[in-house]
Amino acid sequence: MKTLKEPLFLVTSTPYRDSDIIVNLLSSRNGKLSAIVYNGRKLGKTSSFLYQPGDLLDVEYRIKESDDFIRILNIAGKSILNARDFSYKRFLFHSYLLEIISKISQPGNPSGELFEILADNNRCSWAAKQILYFIGRFIWQLIQHSGFGVDYHTCKNCQRQTWQVDENRGPVFRKEQYRFHHDSGAMVCSSCSPITDIKETLTPAMLKVIWILDNTARDEAPPAGIPDAIMVDVIKCLNQYLLQRYGIRPKSLPLFFDSLKPLP
Ligand SMILES: [Zn+2]
Repeated sequence: MKTLKEPLFLVTSTPYRDSDIIVNLLSSRNGKLSAIVYNGRKLGKTSSFLYQPGDLLDVEYRIKESDDFIRILNIAGKSILNARDFSYKRFLFHSYLLEIISKISQPGNPSGELFEILADNNRCSWAAKQILYFIGRFIWQLIQHSGFGVDYHTCKNCQRQTWQVDENRGPVFRKEQYRFHHDSGAMVCSSCSPITDIKETLTPAMLKVIWILDNTARDEAPPAGIPDAIMVDVIKCLNQYLLQRYGIRPKSLPLFFDSLKPLP
């Protein structure tokens, strides 16, 4: 049994018995941890545990060797989100992001990248105009974390480049449709293999957005002028790839996808 003190992200919080809560937490060093917060849930108006999933907490805890169940000694807020200020879109994506992280984080595995994604989520401005771009960027980060990155540079079959550098315009993508090769994350062009399902189509405009996601630093402002409709197509396409790679189907997916539709 050793005692540690470190910042942990609250990932899930579930009522347990009459007055307790079961929490999942993410440690950069120790991966997913679980604990019971005794009397965290009081009947009546007040609760002793006011934190929400996504909050960063300073936690002092006891842990046994090779165990992911911890005993919390002390807890204090470090970076607290104000979920009441979230827009509807952000609220649904937030729930979705945390559900994915709770499903893919593992006990005992160092989780520096997932921890950084949650830290970015807290630092992000989430400005209404850029919200779709930010959602796309987080899904791109999750794909990078999965170790099954997307290769959007060449057709897997004919090896032709999908894009060329133009000195004035940056990357210019071939006028060609592509789809994902499901097993490898590479692209196949429609000349090599006709695309039968329109939902699987990746257009040159979508590949360009993927290029931007890949080549824009996390703390850099997103470029202006990406049409919402293309951003939504990219989000859906990358997201489908991510879920397939992990073999997961989060419960919050349908509501999150519904929120991507433009408001009338
Ligand atoms: Zn090809």
